[in-house]
Amino acid sequence: MAKNKVHEIIITPQMFISPPFKKCPYCKEKEFGVVHIGDRTYTRRCRRCLQSSSYKLPPIKKRVLYLDQMAISEMMKLLNPKFNETRKSKVKSIWKDLFGKLDRLVKLQLIICPDSTSHYYESLIVPEYYQVLKRMYEQLSNGISFHDAEVIKSFQISLNFREWMGEKNLKDIDIYNVTSGHDIDSWQDRLRISVGVNDFDESIITNIKEEREIVGEKMKKVFERWQTEKSKNFTDWYEEERSAFGKMVFRSYLENIISDNPFSMMSQTNTLVVDLINRLSDKGLSNEEALQKIILYFGSNQIKEVPYIKISAGLFASIARKAANGQKKPLTIGDVNDIKAISSLAPYCEAMFIDNKMYSLLTERVDGKQLREFVGLNTKFYCQNTMDDFLDFLQKIEESASKSHLAKVKEVYGDTWGEPFVEMYEY
Ligand SMILES: [Zn+2]
Repeated sequence: MAKNKVHEIIITPQMFISPPFKKCPYCKEKEFGVVHIGDRTYTRRCRRCLQSSSYKLPPIKKRVLYLDQMAISEMMKLLNPKFNETRKSKVKSIWKDLFGKLDRLVKLQLIICPDSTSHYYESLIVPEYYQVLKRMYEQLSNGISFHDAEVIKSFQISLNFREWMGEKNLKDIDIYNVTSGHDIDSWQDRLRISVGVNDFDESIITNIKEEREIVGEKMKKVFERWQTEKSKNFTDWYEEERSAFGKMVFRSYLENIISDNPFSMMSQTNTLVVDLINRLSDKGLSNEEALQKIILYFGSNQIKEVPYIKISAGLFASIARKAANGQKKPLTIGDVNDIKAISSLAPYCEAMFIDNKMYSLLTERVDGKQLREFVGLNTKFYCQNTMDDFLDFLQKIEESASKSHLAKVKEVYGDTWGEPFVEMYEY
């Protein structure tokens, strides 16, 4: 019937003005809405007279939480109408409670759940759900992304190297150094701009799949070796993993030099070693001398103190101990990815929601304490088995917010802003 009707959309300046509406200081009509929310200010504009004014926003400090891909995926399934009812009933409704709480806290400007390359890669390999998974992690990250694990690791090694060289008063790496996107502690704008609409790349998927296969094969062999090492204890494997690390980095650097491998993961190692060489050249060392010094460093005890190396070595040693004790379930590619995410991100998160298996490894006793403490982490860990504790933890975050903060949120975003966006996939 309306086949030939042309739909016109007329864009007016009024369309960008959102509630809540206040009395306009210029024309006195109750048409003074919010047009922009920025870093530390927000702007109101009148829908009637189009006059505007900007207001200061107080500084905020958001708590940083990390959710692993399993949590992202479960929440997506629960909210997505495309998953039929039978599927939905299988997924516990507790995931809906979790999403509700997280989404609310993000909107109240109290927490942020940065996304990671691990979310990106693990969503890419299920192409049919890539967009909806991405939609979920971006809803909670609000555009804040962690740097890749390899990048974070190289930051840590670089700092550790400078300490080894005797540099003083070095600044520790913090959450701001390991994330990109706009400032974590900014007041978020109402509009969500999803970056990288063309980031669905078949060649990346092929690369990921190939790498998974290679790593999977390697892990199978390592696990089989651990199963036979009946006389070793946790410390043996822990020390072995920590010592192997520096040598491995340096070896892959040399291999890259020889083969001129352009593969990005590898070239991160190259960049790191080249950066270290440059630091030494600046101090007047020749290339030859610099290389000698770096070989010393990669074999030193100092490099064993790099957080990433300690955490991943601890987790692998813990799995080795289980293997030698007769555990049959092999080390999976999923475990390796989880270890990578935990080792690179945990030092910068107040809390991490991880899978049950990783949780049990991190809370195992080593030397009279939990493994997480043993490797130097203060991070709180939660998993599906401790979901109630996680919901409690989130509840306390909301309760800890000051009245003036919550009033400011209402002033800027309106009364209904904190309600969870459970209709996310119906748009
Ligand atoms: Zn006005």
